[in-house]
Amino acid sequence: MNIDRDQVVSVRGLQKAYGGRTVVDGVDLDVRAGEVLGLIGANGAGKTTTVECLQGLRRPDGGTIRVLGLDPLRDADRLRQQVGSQLQNSALPDRMRVHEAVALFAGPDAADADDLLERFGLAHRRGYAFGGMSGGERQRLFLVLALLNRPRLVILDELTQGLDPAARREVWSAVARLRDEGTTVLLVTHELDEAEALCDRVVAMRAGRVLDQGTPADLVARHGGWATVRFSLPSPRTQELSSLPGVQDVSRQGNQVAVTGGRAVIAHTGAWLLANGEIPADLRVEIPDLETALLTLLETS
Ligand code: ATP
Repeated sequence: MNIDRDQVVSVRGLQKAYGGRTVVDGVDLDVRAGEVLGLIGANGAGKTTTVECLQGLRRPDGGTIRVLGLDPLRDADRLRQQVGSQLQNSALPDRMRVHEAVALFAGPDAADADDLLERFGLAHRRGYAFGGMSGGERQRLFLVLALLNRPRLVILDELTQGLDPAARREVWSAVARLRDEGTTVLLVTHELDEAEALCDRVVAMRAGRVLDQGTPADLVARHGGWATVRFSLPSPRTQELSSLPGVQDVSRQGNQVAVTGGRAVIAHTGAWLLANGEIPADLRVEIPDLETALLTLLETS
């Protein structure tokens, strides 16, 4: 396999079945140095199985995997030092204090733990027991532990599951900081707003296969190429609007009109309004964000 130096993860044709049922079916996946790559898809898409194979926790049935140029099964020990993984909640005993967890996980070349705790807003929690911390604090502690040994790749799976909105935001800003510092992150999530908030690139999976991948802008262009123009119009002239180029649908509720179609409907609707002497004060345009585009991709492909 040809691996360029920027390639942190390279997966080709990954296959994995459980009891004869294929759950990962020919997945290709690349993570490049310095990016936050989001692996998204509904429950059961095969995301966790894929990253477990990357971590050497499962033996693939087929395909090749290289993580930092190494084979996750053959070179498990060397990789463990270079890949930081987020722990599951059950991994730490409730009575363990933050400073004890840090001491337990710190390897010989660990980063400055106090500095990390400070950066993730946990400096004042050093003496706290894990069991007494909030969900957001626990996840931030997991981030600290994942970063402690200066990993070259960080793998985060369902990082904000079960957190309330404020705690999610806290954890997101911690990951955004990692991204800004150039840490390479593989982020597994089924929450599309999380992918939108954090990822440089997204790989969308369903039923064990990759549906599409690209930057948020690529994916929005490919799967969210439509627009809706909304405005109020006193006269019911929906027929004329329907015949404008690119228009797929015109709906009307009272005075409120919605014109939907390809992106060209924005300009054509605007031009039609002007030509007809209409300048509605409430004119607005809706175009899909990444979350909507991904939903379209996952539901319709
Ligand atoms: P989720 O978001 O729910 O974790 P996922 O995309 O990560 O979903 P996986 O956890 O990889 O998906 O699961 C893919 C499929 O494999 C699911 O149908 C799951 O039930 C099944 N599966 C996962 N682990 C095992 C196992 N150890 N034995 C049998 N089936 C399994």
